[in-house]
Amino acid sequence: MPAKADPFLQRRLLDVARIDQAVAAAEHRRRTLPELAQIADDTATVQKLRGALVLRQAEIGDLDRDARKLDNEIDAVRTRAKRDTDRLAAGSAPAKDLENMQHELTSLARRQSTLEDDALELMERRELADTEVASTQADLAAAQERLAAAEQRRGDAVADIDDELKRVTAERAGLLDGMPADLIKLYEQIRARGRTAAGALNGARCEACRMDLDRSALNDIWSAAPDAVVRCTECGAILIRS
Ligand SMILES: [Zn+2]
Repeated sequence: MPAKADPFLQRRLLDVARIDQAVAAAEHRRRTLPELAQIADDTATVQKLRGALVLRQAEIGDLDRDARKLDNEIDAVRTRAKRDTDRLAAGSAPAKDLENMQHELTSLARRQSTLEDDALELMERRELADTEVASTQADLAAAQERLAAAEQRRGDAVADIDDELKRVTAERAGLLDGMPADLIKLYEQIRARGRTAAGALNGARCEACRMDLDRSALNDIWSAAPDAVVRCTECGAILIRS
């Protein structure tokens, strides 16, 4: 531990401590940007909507397959009814066959009507599914736009903070330049404990921890040489006397 250091150089530690506080605040700001929560929210929304879209598109695929199947069935019923109608019109079959064909035509007509109702219902469901897909796509596009905007804002904010950090880091290096290595080492050791490593002694109060020092500690400090390195008895900060 340095016992002595030029008071003028010691005083510079107050500026270093101010910079270190600004760095800690900037890093905290970078970790807690409101855009980060926004991005997390928007990312979750985008994923949810993408999932919903996949499900709805699969549903449309199923509906289309069912509709094609129904169309084929309707075609088969129509073909068969046409064949019966043609044979009836020809009138060449035996009477018993003609009668069976009449019965079959009646049941084919019923079947066709049922199938056509089903087809109509499918068409309505398909229209509803189309509407839902369109609205999900619109929601997804809006969420993606919000996400991109939040990412842009985060990028801008991080760039600003990084610029500030670069500037104050250079300033810090300038302040430490020419300072005794053992004084810097002591300062860094205190700072490594997560504390403010230097503070002004303001009357009886240490400005690093904002506590008042007791009388005996103050007496020791006041009687120390101007170039002595003195510490706060409460928080350990290097105390800078004015
Ligand atoms: Zn203190």
